Amino acid sequence: MKCPFCGEEMESGMIITMRDIGFAWIPEGKKLPLVPLVGLKKMGGMLLGESTGFTRAKLDFNICKKCNKGISSL
Ligand SMILES: [Zn+2]
Repeated sequence: MKCPFCGEEMESGMIITMRDIGFAWIPEGKKLPLVPLVGLKKMGGMLLGESTGFTRAKLDFNICKKCNKGISSL
C-alpha cells in the first residue's frame, strides 16, 4: 500500500494494546515484545496513545514513518 500523502510504500503491521502502557504498532510478522518499550523499539515498532485498561484488542494498521500517518485496513 502506498502512502496517499507522499507516495512512499507503507509499512504493514498491527496495533495492539499494551495494558497500562498504551497502544503499540508492531511490524507485520512480529509479536508483542516481552520487554515492552525496549523490545518495541528494537523491532521498529511505535508506541501510540495512552492507557486503555486490562483488555487487549488489535487492529491491522499500515504506517508511513516519513509522514507520521497511518491507515487502518478494517
Ligand atoms: Zn507518507
